[in-house]
Amino acid sequence: MIKENIESVRKRIAAAARRAGRIDAVTLVAVTKNHPVEDMKEAAAEISDVGENRVQEALEKQAAFPDNELKWHLIGHLQTNKAKQAVRHFDLIHSVDSLRLLDVVDKEAQRIGKVQDILLEVNIAREESKTGMSVEDFPVICGHAAALKHVCVRGLMCMAPDFENVEDTRPIFRIAKALYDDMKMKFPDGQVRYLSMGMTHDFEIAVEEGANVVRVGTAIFGPRNY
Ligand SMILES: *Cc1c(COP(=O)(O)O)cnc(C)c1O
Repeated sequence: MIKENIESVRKRIAAAARRAGRIDAVTLVAVTKNHPVEDMKEAAAEISDVGENRVQEALEKQAAFPDNELKWHLIGHLQTNKAKQAVRHFDLIHSVDSLRLLDVVDKEAQRIGKVQDILLEVNIAREESKTGMSVEDFPVICGHAAALKHVCVRGLMCMAPDFENVEDTRPIFRIAKALYDDMKMKFPDGQVRYLSMGMTHDFEIAVEEGANVVRVGTAIFGPRNY
């Protein structure tokens, strides 16, 4: 089923991109949290990007992919005490949401001679239950990040609230796209390239509004067992 599900998600992404008149590529990150390695192996035949929420779970799973042909995305909240492992084990960290975390990631990356690709997570809908920096803090944090040598800001990540009417996500994604376009001017040419937004229930709207990275779990692997 996983192969068919991926195919179907890809078709829906392509249709949404067409509706928006887009011709650029959209990266599908398969969100594998709480799903077993066997399911990941099945997905890995079709996809090149996987997303995990927890550092520890990702570490355990990476052992099953020794050739590491996958690109690993950290999409869940990152605590500063996990930053050391995160920079060792992830290609792109989507969830950097404070000055303090930026500094810790920079320091840990410097320690191993890496420049860590990151996205800045913005809590556009101001949901108290969600992480992410405020829209007000965003420019300040961009400015701070631009001066760091071991962190490379590649774009913006956001989550829309779980609205009953999925159309209500559209204004949120539209604000994210505007912030993302602004952001490109704050960093060297070509550095800011990823707008990560859209999950199972809202990825088509996110793509219509300009997402070029979508993070999809349930539509590929089915419901998660906690
Ligand atoms: C779990 C998760 C997803 C995937 O959610 P689905 O609804 O299963 O597609 C995407 N992004 C983040 C940040 C998540 O935590």
